[in-house]
Amino acid sequence: MEMKNLSIKGMHCASCANIIERKLKKIPGVSSIQVNYGTEAASLSFDEKQTSLKALSTHLEPLGYSFVAPTAGLNSETPQPTEVNSLRQKLFSVIPLAIISIIMMTWEIAAQLGWLPEMNAVLKTFLHHLLPIIATYTLFTVGTPYLLGVYRFIRYGKANMDTLIGLGTVAAFLYSFTISAFENILRPYLDVSQSYYDVTIVVIAFITLGKYLEAQSKLKTGSAITKLLTLQAKTAMVIRDRQELEVTIDAVTVGEIIIVKPGTKIPVDGVIITGTSFIDESMITGEPVPVEKQIGATVIAGTMNTTGAFTFRATKVGSETMLASIIKMVQTAQGSKAPIQALADTISAVFVPVVIGIAVITLALWLFIGPQSLGWSQSLSYGLMSFVGILVIACPCALGLATPTAIIVGVGKGATNGILIKDAATLQKLHQATTVVVDKTGTITKGKPELVSIKSFGDITESKIIEVLAALEHQSEHPIAHAIVTHAATQKINLPLVAQFTSLKGKGVAGTINDTKYFAGNQKLIEDLKLNFDTTIIDQATKEGKTPIILATTTAVLGIVMVADAIKPEAKEAVSALHKLGIKVVMLTGDNKNTANFIADQVGIDEVVAEVLPHDKMAKIKTLQSAGEIVAMAGDGINDAPALAQADVGIAMATGTDVAIESAGIILLGGDISKLSQAIRLSKLTMRGIKQNLFWAFAYNIIGIPLASGLFFPWFGWLLNPIFAGAAMALSSVSVVLNSLRLKNTTLWYGKY
Ligand code: ADP
Ligand code: MG
Repeated sequence: MEMKNLSIKGMHCASCANIIERKLKKIPGVSSIQVNYGTEAASLSFDEKQTSLKALSTHLEPLGYSFVAPTAGLNSETPQPTEVNSLRQKLFSVIPLAIISIIMMTWEIAAQLGWLPEMNAVLKTFLHHLLPIIATYTLFTVGTPYLLGVYRFIRYGKANMDTLIGLGTVAAFLYSFTISAFENILRPYLDVSQSYYDVTIVVIAFITLGKYLEAQSKLKTGSAITKLLTLQAKTAMVIRDRQELEVTIDAVTVGEIIIVKPGTKIPVDGVIITGTSFIDESMITGEPVPVEKQIGATVIAGTMNTTGAFTFRATKVGSETMLASIIKMVQTAQGSKAPIQALADTISAVFVPVVIGIAVITLALWLFIGPQSLGWSQSLSYGLMSFVGILVIACPCALGLATPTAIIVGVGKGATNGILIKDAATLQKLHQATTVVVDKTGTITKGKPELVSIKSFGDITESKIIEVLAALEHQSEHPIAHAIVTHAATQKINLPLVAQFTSLKGKGVAGTINDTKYFAGNQKLIEDLKLNFDTTIIDQATKEGKTPIILATTTAVLGIVMVADAIKPEAKEAVSALHKLGIKVVMLTGDNKNTANFIADQVGIDEVVAEVLPHDKMAKIKTLQSAGEIVAMAGDGINDAPALAQADVGIAMATGTDVAIESAGIILLGGDISKLSQAIRLSKLTMRGIKQNLFWAFAYNIIGIPLASGLFFPWFGWLLNPIFAGAAMALSSVSVVLNSLRLKNTTLWYGKY
């Protein structure tokens, strides 16, 4: 089974996405297909044995679409403004023609009302002959997509939004053409002075203008990707054969030494080996202050060195770098469909045929009811206006743009603020969150605990305690273990060998040194061993937020060390920002109750669940969910994976260069928890944008259709000129895109949203 992401050419409106999906789904071997009009791309999986990309492409060609081969390198994926350029050219040729038509039309009306003198007879005759020429030209050059829409409708019975515009403009054109051609024959039956060439010209001009503005704004919605791509350095200074050499970045290999000079970009991911500097990582993490980096610190491709100079060893290059994975993730997310779009998709799928039906019925009604009071000729003319007006105004372009444009902008805005969103569904779900569950270590606290005190029971020395503890913890990945090992390293203590190391999940570790079995961990572990000891020191220290690690053998407790993990400076404000959004904050931790309560009090957390084992974290989330809460869980993504996966939205706090965190739907870069409330705000703003878009798109069609059909004509004399329908239709698409773009300039900080 092959899963491919492809660009599609020839999509003009959202209903195209439906047509392509339905067409390809029917082909044997195709197991899934998702087409997104917003990104003009498809993700497609099919059985290579049964069909091929080429075969699938031939199925699409008669319908006017084609696949564009997947692009390999990142650089070639920059959004191309070619569509905008070709639309601009079309616009240049059609605008002057539309202006001539509009001047003529206005003059005629003004003359009828006595505001302007009648047009000079010679000029009138000249224009009378000019208009059919302009209209023909417009329809057959700029209007070809709409003609094709009509052709495909007749030939294959497939109707999209172009079909609607095509049927409307062609109808106006054919009517006018018939009158011009058979003027003398028709004179007794029809008002032959009325022709509708101007409708064809101006409607096409407006639709083209609308599409041009839409395409231009759509480029802007994707600007986050462009921005990320421009972060990529083009070259790197490497050391080869002891020589400094400038190479293109695809030539850099893992393990190579790279020189970074002041004020230059970091070309690939790596670890500093000499020198120090401050690095501006704002483009990736959103953190505005440059970060100090010393030997051993990780550097990220795309970030900017400030004044220092250093060398680093490349650890990840090419498509492996954090920047490349971010770009890929953003692209995938922008192309994914939000569940809310299903409604718009269903409607636009039935919309086009229904609208054609309504237009035909309306024309028939005009011809059936009209002649009694208006006469035959006038009824035909009004009926035609209604027919064209309905087809033009009902085109559900705005409906198709409502969701994808907002998702593209929302996901992109997230990415530029260090909030990576895996897919549109996650972005949609997050706005409903009522409870945020946070892990303590690494989420509320820095996750880098330090050893603060040592207490020995009996005759074992303090340095012996550290020696044994560090030897055991050496093999553990827990942040606590790291604190102890680091401390031992600074004391230059040599570590004895450990046999039979085991990690006791949520409790501690165990191992054998010189035939003695040792345990290191929390009180639960000591309870399991059924040992008694004086806990006053623990009660005391935990109330100050410290975490005890108890060292014991099977028969006695030997000593206790205390580690303390500093609270992140932004934690308190981050929690209160969540409260402002009306969200309850629960802290879950495997740590001691007193320690947990102390930290929770410092930052204003609503509920603490302490001393839980890893699988109980998941159970706690289930309990919250069954009480009706929509739970977002933020954790470090390492030992919290099951809980993250259980939550409605899993949010991983990424630190370092690892963005490939599987179980999370959202990744907050730089481990900054004030991004939690920002992510929720982003989700709320995006959803609000989508709902506004959908509302206006629907409202517009619901009002437009009866108005254009002449439903109000008998009472108020209202009938929509198709030219205004064209203008309104162009305006509606553009306003939807602009409304989505508004999100780009909205702050994600605080406020009620
Ligand atoms: P959390 O991430 O919330 O701290 P864990 O399940 O990782 O939860 O750990 C729970 C508790 O188990 C820790 O607070 C600590 O007391 C004990 N613990 C876990 N691993 C170790 C270890 N390697 N050494 C000592 N204690 C440990
Ligand atoms: Mg943890």
